[in-house]
Amino acid sequence: MKLGCMLRNVLRALFQRPVTVQYLTKPEERVPVPERFRGKLAYDRDACIGCLLCIRTCPSGVITATVEKKVKFDVVRCMFCGQCVEICPKNAIALSSEFEIVVDNKEELVIQ
Ligand code: SF4
Ligand code: SF4
Repeated sequence: MKLGCMLRNVLRALFQRPVTVQYLTKPEERVPVPERFRGKLAYDRDACIGCLLCIRTCPSGVITATVEKKVKFDVVRCMFCGQCVEICPKNAIALSSEFEIVVDNKEELVIQ
């Protein structure tokens, strides 16, 4: 790389906004996620009609029926394929933009 070109790159970088965020020291500073990002499952229990189609389509056995004719999700096993989202006739399931799904107790990742 020629010296002039290198200097131009250095000067440009000096005045650009950093592309990294200080996530470790400032967790509130988040990287914006793409519109179609597949994050933690979100379940609208009120919209769910208990048809159980989501259970039949899930390849990972994440979803189980509850006694109230609703469903629950063991997110630990989810591979975020989105099949349950697509098949739900009531749009009761969504893949959110939430990517922080590390917990101390895995029971916290059961959604119902
Ligand atoms: S996203 Fe895929 S793996 Fe996760 S619960 Fe839905 S169907 Fe199952
Ligand atoms: S497919 Fe949708 S409406 Fe049917 S049980 Fe699953 S979440 Fe409920």
